[in-house]
Amino acid sequence: MSVYANIILPVPLQKLFTYSVPEHLQGQLQVGSRVVVQFGKKKSYSGIVHSFCPMAPEDYETKDISLIVDEQPIVTTEQLTFWQWIADYYMCTLGEVYRAALPSGLKLESESRIMYNAQFEAEKPLSDKQSQVLNYVEGRRVCTISDVAGYCTEFNALPVLRQLLEMQAVFISEELRESYKPRTEKFYSLAENLRTEENLSAAMDSMERRAPKQLDALMIFVQRAGGMRKIFAGNAVRKSELTDNNGASAQALQSLVTKGILDCKVQNVSRIAVADVAPEAPQPLSEVQQKAYVRIKESFETKNVTLLHGVTSSGKTEIYIHLIKECIESGRKALYLLPEIALTTQITSRLRRYFGDSLGIYHSKFSDAERVEVWNNLLREDGYKLILGVRSSVLLPLENVGLIIVDEEHETSYKQFDPAPRYNARDAAVMLGMQLKAKVLLGSATPSVESYHNALTGRYGLVELTERYAGIEMPHIEPVDIKKARMQRKMTSMFSWELKDRIDESLRNNEQVILFQNRRGFSPYVECRQCAWVPKCQNCDVSLTYHKNSNQLVCHYCGFSMTLPVECPVCGTPGLETRGFGTEKIEEEVREIFPEARVVRMDIDTAKSRKAYEQIISEFEQHNYDILIGTQMISKGLDFDRVSTVGILNADNMLNYPDFRAYDRCFQTIAQVSGRAGRKGRRGEVMLQTTDTGHPVICDVVSGDYKSHYNKQIREREMYRYPPFYRLINITVKHKDRQCNARAAGILASMLRQLFDWRILGPQEPPVNRIATLYLQRITLKIERNANARQVKDMVTAVVNRLVADWQFRRVTVQIDVDPY
Ligand code: ADP
Ligand code: ZN
Ligand code: ZN
Repeated sequence: MSVYANIILPVPLQKLFTYSVPEHLQGQLQVGSRVVVQFGKKKSYSGIVHSFCPMAPEDYETKDISLIVDEQPIVTTEQLTFWQWIADYYMCTLGEVYRAALPSGLKLESESRIMYNAQFEAEKPLSDKQSQVLNYVEGRRVCTISDVAGYCTEFNALPVLRQLLEMQAVFISEELRESYKPRTEKFYSLAENLRTEENLSAAMDSMERRAPKQLDALMIFVQRAGGMRKIFAGNAVRKSELTDNNGASAQALQSLVTKGILDCKVQNVSRIAVADVAPEAPQPLSEVQQKAYVRIKESFETKNVTLLHGVTSSGKTEIYIHLIKECIESGRKALYLLPEIALTTQITSRLRRYFGDSLGIYHSKFSDAERVEVWNNLLREDGYKLILGVRSSVLLPLENVGLIIVDEEHETSYKQFDPAPRYNARDAAVMLGMQLKAKVLLGSATPSVESYHNALTGRYGLVELTERYAGIEMPHIEPVDIKKARMQRKMTSMFSWELKDRIDESLRNNEQVILFQNRRGFSPYVECRQCAWVPKCQNCDVSLTYHKNSNQLVCHYCGFSMTLPVECPVCGTPGLETRGFGTEKIEEEVREIFPEARVVRMDIDTAKSRKAYEQIISEFEQHNYDILIGTQMISKGLDFDRVSTVGILNADNMLNYPDFRAYDRCFQTIAQVSGRAGRKGRRGEVMLQTTDTGHPVICDVVSGDYKSHYNKQIREREMYRYPPFYRLINITVKHKDRQCNARAAGILASMLRQLFDWRILGPQEPPVNRIATLYLQRITLKIERNANARQVKDMVTAVVNRLVADWQFRRVTVQIDVDPY
């Protein structure tokens, strides 16, 4: 009997592909398992079994599945259902969702590596083809599936590879199998004979002066173990937790072990619940927090989704911790989503303290092996209880989840822009919650207009926290009119005298300062002072950004770069001049104006890696720097104790950005950045420089009046037909040739207009009209909230397919973005 399997392949084609299951593989194959199949002439891919069917497709002849990778499925049926929803809603293919979801270690594409098994002993003689392939693999040690296919030109290597795999003559080495070893780590605890105060202090006295580093390390150990009581009880601390963030030196720890002061044990850290590091009970909630907590739970009785609107530092995270704990105790798992840049050591070590090793972290900057580990862990029944992760963690194999938290729900980075799936993890989480019957809590100090509207209209529950934890005051925001200051010549470079005085005062008081420059206003470029020539990217319609350290001109859209020309290529004048102020330029000036201050800058260039980022944060935290200069990267979820002043250098470029969410973003950014000031101790000061101190957004943010801001925004959204009253779909048409592109977009727009009438806007060239050699045209579709979205999307797809079927537009790419954010 023939059996056919529908396979999800990582290709952007609409449908699933049917393959026949060879007889000897029948019965071994399950939905959700990976298989390797041949696609096209030469390419082989690994795909996921989506479903089975008894009939062969009518329009093409099926090929055999080449091999089965997994005996047990690695994708659950729940997950497939959710992926399908993402594909349908965001108008992309299941293959694209699959690509985004799987860590590359599990993807096993034609680039998957094949390894020779040195222990292999043949039971019967190999065929010629088999030994030919095996010899090749042996000679190369490691090679890819496509290497093998490329080497074997006379015959199809895949079936042969499959045979070799079955005999275990070769392995497919995903990182998983190749490098998966249980991770172990050293754990330190106080030596047993020192677990009383007298004994410990005697030991410390004996080492005092002679070994300051070791004494330091010991103090760090005491502190990070949670105090004297804990270490006397034998609490053990991971090495990484002692050495992180400028902690103890590994050498000093080793010396303490040699001296018999600390014990050191090597333990497996991948195991769930390491008995020695018993998680702590969460801190008791304040009265206000407790009330909010109770109201959230009440709200969950009738609503699936609740919005927690709590000002910065009101203790939202603490409330999450209590809710998560309760969820876990009821036997279910919790998923905690954070935007990329907010996922720092600060939050992870805070959660680690309460949830120990039942916490799993899923971060795109983690190594692939770690992500594979989280994935596999979730497939086990006794796996992690809490997953802390970024956007893509909604695509994980999640089951038995009772609570989903989306912190900073307003954040743009929840939306994936490129490539497809262009999904918003916040909205997807709401959907996922429904599917898994989990409660969803959205949290923010500055909720998105959409979510707040949903809360006010009763679709979501709403709980508000209006004061900071422990009665700390909200920062005082002072608008500074830089137009006036400029006229009165009371500016030193980009600093008003008021801001400069404030910074001086903070430095005198030994307090810290944060200077914020919006990312959008920050590209420094160069210009010829004779002929005003500005170097532009050869692929995109943007001027190149100048990076002083590397003396390079770089395109931030496509990555194109070139060395700064010594002279203007147009008129030959030597020495191009820099314009605009980037963070690098600000840093330079700050060093000049405040020569005694220790200055550090954080932006995409200095904080390329997660490590570099955390290094800067932790050094700033420890007051190794006085002034931190940064972009949006510094505005999120960081808790600094000594920051008394925040300076926002220019709010105008946030207000003038051409987007209907610009005001909302501006309000959010200022409120978030301001939230970094004065968290403990005294009230923080925020100096907000702008040329328009009377601007409604500035006024609302100065008075901290979110509701007033919201009311204005929602009125405008309604008036101009924007979300949440209308759904938007952006359709971007791309082509190498500008005219051809315009023609295609024009035809597409008029076809759409016949169906959707006034709801179609454009086509229009976006502000940046050429990216990576392709010209762009944009069409926007606005649909009423209550319209049948499925039907609308099907109509759009049909029209787009009609366009690209036209031979003259066969090179046109059409990109669809549902709910652009
Ligand atoms: P948010 O998430 O609203 O910005 P956090 O939960 O980070 O606020 O709380 C801000 C600060 O207050 C943190 O340093 C946190 O440790 C402290 N805090 C909040 N709630 C409590 C509590 N119930 N007990 C002790 N400390 C708390
Ligand atoms: Zn010139
Ligand atoms: Zn470019």
